[in-house]
Amino acid sequence: MPIRRDLRPLYPPDWRAISARVRFERAGGRCEACGRPHLAVVRCLPDGRWFDEAAKLWRGARGRAARWPDLEALIFQRSTRVVLATAHLDHDPANNRARNLRSLCQRCHLRHDRLYHLTTRRLGYRRRWALGDLFAGPYPARGAILSGPPRAQGCAAGPHEVMGS
Ligand SMILES: [Zn+2]
Repeated sequence: MPIRRDLRPLYPPDWRAISARVRFERAGGRCEACGRPHLAVVRCLPDGRWFDEAAKLWRGARGRAARWPDLEALIFQRSTRVVLATAHLDHDPANNRARNLRSLCQRCHLRHDRLYHLTTRRLGYRRRWALGDLFAGPYPARGAILSGPPRAQGCAAGPHEVMGS
């Protein structure tokens, strides 16, 4: 998972070595949550089950042997290439103690960061609405805040004036 540009200064200079040590020396090139191997193309189901080619069995979202899917579940099967990344369990990129780092595949990493991503999205949404309220709208689209002020519109009235008239 690429590191966000604004968070890069928080990572140590030897982050690549730390990440490689966690993913390949400690975890043996596997996800420490579900057991998927790095860079392998695995068949997986929406409920997290994946087929372990080496062991010839289906594994669950926690890496343990799981029941084989029925034909109905196999309809939703898809293949994906596993890419391991090192995750910070407390979401603090400056905390690089070994017990705070975990080798996770992209599925487990997204699930681990789900609340953080939802919170960030909600804050961005509320920030755009707050700017619209402060400056009498219109509400800028995502990314428009950084690209500059909006062009003049035909009507300068904000949402409150429109509703009151
Ligand atoms: Zn995983």
